[in-house]
Amino acid sequence: MLRLAGFGVGLALVPGRLRGESAPNRQVSRGNAGCYRFRVGEFKATALVTGFMAAEPHQPFYAPQASAEAFRAAVAAAAGSKGRMHFNALLLRRGGETILIDAGPGGNVPADCDLVANLAKLGVAPVDVTRVVLTHAHFDHCGGLLDAAGHVVFSRAEHCCLAEEIDFWSAPQPDLAKLRLGAKAVLGTAQRVFAKIAFRRLQSDVPLAEGITPLLAPGHTPGHMTLRIESQGESLYHIADLTHNAHVMLPHPDWTIASDCDEPLAAATRKRIFAGLAAEGVRVFGSHVPFPGLGRIVAVAAGGEQYRWVPEDWAPAE
Ligand SMILES: [Zn+2]
Repeated sequence: MLRLAGFGVGLALVPGRLRGESAPNRQVSRGNAGCYRFRVGEFKATALVTGFMAAEPHQPFYAPQASAEAFRAAVAAAAGSKGRMHFNALLLRRGGETILIDAGPGGNVPADCDLVANLAKLGVAPVDVTRVVLTHAHFDHCGGLLDAAGHVVFSRAEHCCLAEEIDFWSAPQPDLAKLRLGAKAVLGTAQRVFAKIAFRRLQSDVPLAEGITPLLAPGHTPGHMTLRIESQGESLYHIADLTHNAHVMLPHPDWTIASDCDEPLAAATRKRIFAGLAAEGVRVFGSHVPFPGLGRIVAVAAGGEQYRWVPEDWAPAE
C-alpha cells in the first residue's frame, strides 16, 4: 500500500483500522447505491459516498475534555449508529456547470468507495467536472483530487478553496503545534495537492458561483469552510467537518476531535453555527453524517447548547 491512511500515520491516538494497518485488504464497496439525488431549487444535487470506516468513537481521539463516564453515555445513546464514520461528497449540476464539493479520501481509508465509479453512474466523467470546491485540505476531502500516479483527476475543473486554507498548507512549515494528531497525520496529502494544483483563492461570504457562498468556519483547519447553497427560494447548508459523529458531537458541541487544528476555536465555531442552524431550521448536508448526509440540526432544549441530528427521509429523485 503506497498511500498511507492520512489521519493515522504512527499515531497512538488512532485505532489500527484508521491507521490503515489492515489496509492491504482494502475493500471497495460496490454493492449498495453510492449516490442519492435531490434538488436545491434549480440545482440537481447528488450526495456521493466516497468512503466509510468502521470505527467506534473513542477517547482521546474524540472528546479529550469529557469524563470517561460522560463519553460512554454519549456513545451508548448513539445506539446502532455509533460504529461508522461516513465520508460524503456533494455534486451540484445546473445548466453547463458540474460542481464537485470535496473528492473524498481517494483510497486513503481501509474501506472506501470509488468516487469516479459513482460519478460514472450519473453519467459524469472526471473531465465533465467544471469546478471542484475543497472545504478544507484534510486527506479525506482532498485525497481523491490526485490519482495513484499523482495526476489531477478532475483535469478540466477549476479548483477553488478559501485563501486562508491555501496559505496555511502552502507555507514552508504550517503551524500545527496545537494539533493533537501531529503534523505527519495531515501534512503530506495537503502539500501534494497544493503543490500540484493551482487553486482559485476564495473569500468568505463572497459567492464562488451564483447561489453558492463559502463561509469561513475556522478551527478544524484555519481555512475550513461551510457553504450556503441557495436557489429559487430553497437552501442547503453544507456543514463540512463541523461534526464527525453527529450522535456524539451534536449533543456536545464543546467536545472536539484530534484532527482539529485549534480545538477551542473549533468548539466555538461549532457552537455558533449549530445555534444558528437550529434556530433557522435549514436543511443541512454534512461530510461525516450518515449517508446521504441530509437532515436538520435541532436543539434538544430551547436556549440550551445541545443539539441532535434529524435525518431526512428517503424521497424519490425529481
Ligand atoms: Zn473530514
